[in-house]
Amino acid sequence: MAIQIEWANRLKRLPPYLFAEIDKKKRELIKQGKDIIDLGVGDPDLPTPKHIIDKLAEAAKDPRNHRYALDAGMESFRSAIAKWYVKRFGVKVDPQKEVLPLIGSKEGIGHIPLAFVNNHDIVLVPDPAYPAYQSGSIFAGAEIYYMPLLEKNDFLPDLDAIDTQVAHRAKMMFINYPNNPTGATCGKDFFERTVEFAAENNIIVCHDAAYSELTFDNYKPHSFLEVPGAKEVGIEFHSLSKTYNMTGWRVGFVVGNKDIISGLARVKSNLDSGIFQAIQAAGVEALTGPQTFRKELLKIYQERRDVLIDGLDSLGWHVRKPKATFYVWANVPPGFTSSELSKLLLDKANIIATPGNGFGRSGEGYIRMTLCKPKERLEEAVARIKKMHDEWR
Ligand SMILES: *Cc1c(COP(=O)(O)O)cnc(C)c1O
Repeated sequence: MAIQIEWANRLKRLPPYLFAEIDKKKRELIKQGKDIIDLGVGDPDLPTPKHIIDKLAEAAKDPRNHRYALDAGMESFRSAIAKWYVKRFGVKVDPQKEVLPLIGSKEGIGHIPLAFVNNHDIVLVPDPAYPAYQSGSIFAGAEIYYMPLLEKNDFLPDLDAIDTQVAHRAKMMFINYPNNPTGATCGKDFFERTVEFAAENNIIVCHDAAYSELTFDNYKPHSFLEVPGAKEVGIEFHSLSKTYNMTGWRVGFVVGNKDIISGLARVKSNLDSGIFQAIQAAGVEALTGPQTFRKELLKIYQERRDVLIDGLDSLGWHVRKPKATFYVWANVPPGFTSSELSKLLLDKANIIATPGNGFGRSGEGYIRMTLCKPKERLEEAVARIKKMHDEWR
């Protein structure tokens, strides 16, 4: 007789998957042979640079790399990360205690609440946001307090609006700049205010800096750890995924407060057994090898950004030009919800754009489009949207 298979409450607590309907429709349209322009997923379409791939191939042939890696990561990778931090941000971190390689930053983000959050502790999570902050917190049994990211506040959370009781009960908070999905950036003053707020309320700050190197117009984001006191309250997650077109490789890292890092390391040592050493060797190559290709990469994204935004602008859409990330966070034209516009774009223009409410309630009224497609495809997308507009008239 079949057993009854029932999901644990922690899985049931995850919010409903809002993209199911779009996924289904997408599969149908592909089956019908339709030419879909998928601006949904944030995954670079360009290849990993050759010198990084060559390093992986070379390191993969070395039998010393075939065994379990150290949980704490290779010495060479940790020290490459520490050197990169000084060079890029002027921030000194101890490669032994203040650096931890991750199997992609999502892995560390998802696991960090398990180290510090008890049942019913509060975790402060931005809304809209990258979903892993919320899922990791739910798995740890947290209550989530959503910090709305509103356009009138430049998509920064209003820390003064958080109830004192909530702030006192909060154990951890996530922030993310340059921001996915809004494309917003923040100044050092916001990080300073965050450090002050965290110190006052005894809150662990987890800053996700996955897009710190994916910028336009020569903009250079600060590290959270540049701010005095930041290392006393928090950590910063980084990823090679977006910077070096390495999403499939699963390699990232976290730096900052040693006690927070050691908690995460403890969780991880019970769950995983490190990163394939050949990938870590390639990570060293990525961080310390030639960076020249990055200039070209950013130029490509910037061209794409301008094509898409200027195109939508000319149709009367309200879209901000992001200074970083490969996301365009467009206001939904009046008369539609996010989901309605998303569906319409898929039906009438065969374009996939993510409805903003999929990232949280405050994402309603927006849709997110990525720049992970060639310029010509984005031009085609604009042309299709224009045609859709013309048909409305
Ligand atoms: C893409 C992304 C990540 C993570 O990526 P990994 O591939 O797991 O390193 C983390 N945070 C945000 C906001 C992202 O968009």
